Amino acid sequence: MANKQVEKNSITKKSENVSDWYADVIIQSGLADYGPVRGTMILKPYGYALWENVQKALDAMFKSGGVENAYFPMFIPMSLFNKEKSHIEGFSPELAVVTIGGGEQLSEPLAVRPTSEMIMYQEYAKWIHSWRDLPVKINQWNNVVRWEKRTYLFLRTLEFLWQEGHCAHATHEESLEMVLRALDWYRQIYEDFYAIPVVLGVKSQSEKFAGADSTYTVEAIMPDGKALQACTSHDLGQNFSKALSISFQDKNGVSQYVWQNSWGFSTRSLGALFLTHGDDSGLVLPPKVAPIKVAIIPIFGKKDDQVLKYCEKIKQTLTNSPSAYPGRIEIFDDSEKSFGWRVNEAELKGIPIKIAVGIREVQEKAISYSFRLFAMDNKISKFEDLPEKVEQFLSQIQNQMFENAKTILRANTHLVDNYEEFKERMLAGKGFLRAFWCEDVGCEQKIKEETKATTRCRSLDEKEDIGKCVYCGKSAKFRWYFAQAY
Ligand SMILES: [Zn+2]
Repeated sequence: MANKQVEKNSITKKSENVSDWYADVIIQSGLADYGPVRGTMILKPYGYALWENVQKALDAMFKSGGVENAYFPMFIPMSLFNKEKSHIEGFSPELAVVTIGGGEQLSEPLAVRPTSEMIMYQEYAKWIHSWRDLPVKINQWNNVVRWEKRTYLFLRTLEFLWQEGHCAHATHEESLEMVLRALDWYRQIYEDFYAIPVVLGVKSQSEKFAGADSTYTVEAIMPDGKALQACTSHDLGQNFSKALSISFQDKNGVSQYVWQNSWGFSTRSLGALFLTHGDDSGLVLPPKVAPIKVAIIPIFGKKDDQVLKYCEKIKQTLTNSPSAYPGRIEIFDDSEKSFGWRVNEAELKGIPIKIAVGIREVQEKAISYSFRLFAMDNKISKFEDLPEKVEQFLSQIQNQMFENAKTILRANTHLVDNYEEFKERMLAGKGFLRAFWCEDVGCEQKIKEETKATTRCRSLDEKEDIGKCVYCGKSAKFRWYFAQAY
């Protein structure tokens, strides 16, 4: 036992080394573990419960937008993959390919899906004939494989879970509307559920999705000043419909190619959640996604029966009362562990509220609350007020976490108008740099080579202006967000 207690307290300090802290917290809080193949990850029940909460929220949004769920195979014939040139060029370095099946060499190699455009759209060509068949709005919850060279738990793994939405429309206007609608669903998950403020924007031509006309993105800044591409939504134009002959007769009987979009949100986003809110004691999870919302921690003594009975009563009362926040109520009653150890465990797991129960609480019919956000003071209420108080605290915590993250975003966003300052900032502190760029790919490339910063996006809120490219000095219309990325 003694060893285990030391182990639990041995996470690296976030302030000392973010990447060591990050791995320690994920493993020790029970979210995930490394798989036997390099770059793969085992999502343990605590981590999967978190993902399920996100899934439920997103799935409800999709359905409200008329999107239906379906499932397509994970194996894609290489000949099919090769039909859209820029798509295969973009994905080939990351492809996993199966060449043997059932002990025999396959007549055609099969790609393990890195994304499902090709396998879905060859089927769409059979579904779509007339304007009456449109729009098609399908989502898949699945896993994809991308053979990455450098991997991190959650942020970049060879295989990850996600959803991919794929729609076909009669007009470009309608398709673009869907692109932006999906982007806004993602913004809601980030801001309202993860409590992370984000920047919505469009990617540069060199950073867009392979096969898209343009890619829209949700970008977040992490406390170490590096940016994370949170999720993307692509305007595919008619690139895939032309490659796979997905056409329809319009109302005038004229044959037209459909306009398409695709959009994805993955378990990668959870990495942003851990990085943004976690601290030296472990995870800090926002109430709207936390798998456990309240930890009830008994203080053992002479009258354990009464204490445990009271814990059970608190749990039942909270479990049975309606709540805007998903998640379980759990009693941390392992009597082989000290009270302090169990408090640390609840903190490591990022549980928003702790309720400590001793004989005093039982006798006074009181509830003693403490919080994962250290800025909040401990509170006491009467038992009768329990459900109402918990609901009120959860909402307060959710809001406070968003405010804290907004402060981080503001402190990490800088207007930069000369290249010297740009370079200096990228060496120390980093963050989002908002600078004019002439939109020439040469300047973008040079900036990347010299500072490791890439264009993250041109914000949807950005107004046209008159400025000079931070690199070459030629005239530029827009400020772009630059940052070093994960
Ligand atoms: Zn330039």
